[in-house]
Amino acid sequence: MAVSGIGPYDPQNIFAKILRGEIPCNKVYEDDWVLAFHDIGPKAPSHILVIPKGAYVSFADFSAKASAEEIVGFSRALGAIARELGLEEDGYRVIMNVGPNSGQEVPHYHAHLLGGGPLGALIGGPGAARAGAG
Ligand code: 5GP
Repeated sequence: MAVSGIGPYDPQNIFAKILRGEIPCNKVYEDDWVLAFHDIGPKAPSHILVIPKGAYVSFADFSAKASAEEIVGFSRALGAIARELGLEEDGYRVIMNVGPNSGQEVPHYHAHLLGGGPLGALIGGPGAARAGAG
């Protein structure tokens, strides 16, 4: 079944291949629930991708279908990674792109953890230009 406009889960997506060890990643953290690694095209001094080990296409899919254990495991890991990387004191941003309007590229749920310096405006692009117009 299609989920959040990006189709059913595709086990050949790039993050599924990283989870299976078929493609390398620069790992920063792993536990029973998540794998976290550096984004290949960082948008901030520190840009980490945190992904669940389960097969979910997006936050919409994960929040609707994951078990309570998976959701808690993911949440706790995300906070712990930020803390362990020293991002907590100066602050950080978490972004989850869902579906076409967000520009989600990889159809395996992931949170972007961004920090290490000032992050600027919350969003940019055409949506931001229209915001506040009416
Ligand atoms: P999205 O637009 O789906 O929210 O973000 C996907 C992110 O995955 C992008 O920031 C992109 O740079 C990153 N990415 C895409 N392919 C790879 C890869 O093979 N390895 C790593 N580490 N990051 C990737």
